[in-house]
Amino acid sequence: MSKHSDPIDAFTRYPTASTVADFQANVAAVRDRIDAAAVRVGRDPAAVRLLPVSKTVPTERVRVAIASGLRLLGENKVQEAVRKSRETTDLDVSWSIIGHLQTNKARDVASFAAEFQALDRLRVAEALDRRLQAAGRGLDVYVQVNTSAEESKFGMPPEELDAFLRALPVYSSLRVRGLMTLALLTPDETRVRECFRVLRTLRDRAREETPALIGDGELSMGMSGDYEIAVEEGATCVRVGQAIFGARSTPDSYYWPEG
Ligand SMILES: *Cc1c(COP(=O)(O)O)cnc(C)c1O
Repeated sequence: MSKHSDPIDAFTRYPTASTVADFQANVAAVRDRIDAAAVRVGRDPAAVRLLPVSKTVPTERVRVAIASGLRLLGENKVQEAVRKSRETTDLDVSWSIIGHLQTNKARDVASFAAEFQALDRLRVAEALDRRLQAAGRGLDVYVQVNTSAEESKFGMPPEELDAFLRALPVYSSLRVRGLMTLALLTPDETRVRECFRVLRTLRDRAREETPALIGDGELSMGMSGDYEIAVEEGATCVRVGQAIFGARSTPDSYYWPEG
């Protein structure tokens, strides 16, 4: 069973982490499951990066998470990420933006983010590149693809990926690392797995046809409810929030508006 389903259940499944020991235990447990999933399919566990997602978590608890050893944190909303980065300048931590970006927030992202995982429009690439060039910075990016064919999700349709990748190199401050997706939010494992397979197939095709445009061909896919399936299907980065920080009360529809 995938574990997206019911919010009451989520609080039992994902207790709130508030101490360094809580965070270390949760990260170790997730890491063990990632490693086991990789080994099940003959993959090297070291090829899978765990990106902890701290969205909605108050800065005091984020600071505890950083004290437990986390060094790169994912945030969906730029404003929240900017605020937390300003509140943690005394600590050794970097930020990955994993949510949809409006062009008017490109300046913020260019100013502090270490990574942007939700690139899905050339206008955003252009806006980011302009700011980054001005700042003399580069940025690692993942191209987000909508593999679930749902109106409500961000990301480009798979059939547009090839043209998009071919158009990106002019934005020379952006370093394409690979692809990112969100699977369907459904308990139906078969349909979740299918989304991850679509992303992997797109990556494989890009590696064959336009190897210079896909970076290392990373696959960022999998969240608390489905990261083991994602690892089995080839994920090289899993973005895990609730299984590390505890359940969120904000509904997923806040991040992925229904159509
Ligand atoms: C919140 C979020 C995640 C993590 O979801 P959890 O259920 O907390 O693991 C992953 N990816 C994106 C884009 C997110 O916004």
